[in-house]
Amino acid sequence: MLIISCGTSHQTNVKNAKLAAAHENVYLCAGISPQEAMKHPNIKIKLAEWEEAIQKEIAGCGKLVGIGEIGLDYYWAKTQEERFLQHECFISQLQLAERLGLPAVVHSRNAEKECIEILENFNLDYLLHCYSGDAELGKHATAKRGWISVPPLRSKRRIEMVSQLPTEKLLAESDAPGIGSEPADAAEAIKIIADAKKLPEEEARRATLTNTAKFFRIKR
Ligand SMILES: [Zn+2]
Repeated sequence: MLIISCGTSHQTNVKNAKLAAAHENVYLCAGISPQEAMKHPNIKIKLAEWEEAIQKEIAGCGKLVGIGEIGLDYYWAKTQEERFLQHECFISQLQLAERLGLPAVVHSRNAEKECIEILENFNLDYLLHCYSGDAELGKHATAKRGWISVPPLRSKRRIEMVSQLPTEKLLAESDAPGIGSEPADAAEAIKIIADAKKLPEEEARRATLTNTAKFFRIKR
C-alpha cells in the first residue's frame, strides 16, 4: 500500500511531514486549501511564511511529492472577496509547485472549468482530487497534463463519467476524513473504477497503484 497524505493548512502540513517521516510507505503533499485561504484577509503575508516552511522544513523530510490541496471552492466562497483570496492563494502555490518541480493536487468545487483553465497556464502535471465535473471536461484534462482521482462515493453519474476517462490517468482516494474515514476506504474508489472500466478489481487496484507512483514520481 502507498499512502499520500494531503495537507490543507500550515498546521496539517507540519503534521503530515511528521507522519511521512515516521512511516516508510507514507508520502505527503503540502498546501493551503481554498477553504483555508478565504479565512485569511492577509493571505499574501501568511503565504510568504507558510510557503517558506514548505520549501524549507517540510521539503526537508524527503517525502514531499506534491503541492496540495490547492484550488478554488465556489461552493464555500460566496463573496467576491472570498473568491479573490482563494485565487491569490491558488496562483501563488502553483508558482511554488513550478519552482519546486512538483505536481499539484487540486481541490475544485463548482469551479472545475476555471481551475483547469488556470492550470493550463502552468508547466506542471496536476491531479483533480474528488473530481465531480462532467466527462467532457475530464476527457479534456486527461488528454493533457491532468489526472483524475476518484473518491469512494458511488453514483450512477460518477460511474458513467469515469467510464469515459483513460484508465492510465485514474487514481483512487479515500478523501478521509471527508468522504471516507480512513485511507483504507480508497478500496471502494477502486471498486468504482473497476465497475466503470469493466476491469477485475485486482487489475484496477494494480493500475491505480502504478498511476499513483507515476504521477507522484515515487520509485518503488
Ligand atoms: Zn478537497
